[in-house]
Amino acid sequence: MTILSNFDFHSHTKASDGGFTPSDLVLRAYNRGLNYLAITDHDLVAGVQEAQECARHNNELLLQGSPEAPEENYVYANAMVTQVDNGTLERSAQERLLTIIPGIELSTTWRNEQIHIAGLFVDIDNSELQALIARKKELRVARAIAIGQKLEALGFERPYERCVEQAQVGANITRGNYARLIYQDGKAKSIDEAFHKYLCRGQKAYVKNDWGPIEESIQAIKAAGGIAVLAHPRRYKLSNLRLRTLIEEFISWGGEAMEVASCQQKPNDKLYLIELCERYKLLASLGSDFHNDGLFRNLGQNLDLPDHLPVVWSAPCAARFGLNGDIKQRRVHLTYHKSET
Ligand code: AMP
Ligand code: MN
Ligand code: MN
Ligand code: MN
Repeated sequence: MTILSNFDFHSHTKASDGGFTPSDLVLRAYNRGLNYLAITDHDLVAGVQEAQECARHNNELLLQGSPEAPEENYVYANAMVTQVDNGTLERSAQERLLTIIPGIELSTTWRNEQIHIAGLFVDIDNSELQALIARKKELRVARAIAIGQKLEALGFERPYERCVEQAQVGANITRGNYARLIYQDGKAKSIDEAFHKYLCRGQKAYVKNDWGPIEESIQAIKAAGGIAVLAHPRRYKLSNLRLRTLIEEFISWGGEAMEVASCQQKPNDKLYLIELCERYKLLASLGSDFHNDGLFRNLGQNLDLPDHLPVVWSAPCAARFGLNGDIKQRRVHLTYHKSET
């Protein structure tokens, strides 16, 4: 069974390590029935404007009833819709409009761990946020070049240059870009294997980095009028006790939300995050962290939040995007017929 959410607040484009241009990602979001998509590239906001322009154009096409308007195609031939929460399956053009939420995923270092802080509903032109982006850019370029040199010494051809060529002009090159290159060169059977063979801590092409404190990122997000979200809290290698310490410090520095629903999440992890979200009175966010075509992650996929949790779009800063806490997440439940898969 799969649940499709019409909200997805964590995604990547070619402005960092995503495989799609912002426009192609936006078209995919319409195909998947999304109404709210946040673009949260690593340490920059360069994909946001194109995504917003693409959505504006396609919303117009929808409202005009144009044959070129994007269609929904998430109910595949072998799938059956078993339930729709907070809405209907068939929707008018008005109900299918897409809003792009400007966001960012900031890399930070906390007690020797790389922690990601998402900023949602930010003003992408804000000078404090732009200054932080410029500082992170320097760190990113230096590290990407250092990783490239290590890979070159291991026999890869022009690794840094090729990553740059594959991404958007001015993109931030992350380990995710390198993982794809390693996979394309046939040196790993999957992206995950590329990480474990080359890019994870202790491996040959690993380069340590200090990304800067969490406080600095939260401060810039807030200066830009946004809300700080602790991204994928269960993906860090932290004990429960350490995770709670992280959350307590995150809150003390002004953090107000955490991702509760992610793709590829174990049910017990989700239950624990729901419990922490309630205990610490944080707002619940949700995001696929979609990067590229693949079997396991997709926009809106399995991002269901329990209806009783206060959601991140109830924050005052979400009102500028037509959102408030009364707006309910639409969830389409799909079951696949085994015989046809
Ligand atoms: P960086 O910020 O340059 O260290 O790169 C982080 C990126 O690598 C993020 O997009 C992660 O989602 C991705 N990443 C980290 N570990 C893995 C892994 N084991 N498999 C796939 N992607 C990973
Ligand atoms: Mn990434
Ligand atoms: Mn992340
Ligand atoms: Mn991400």
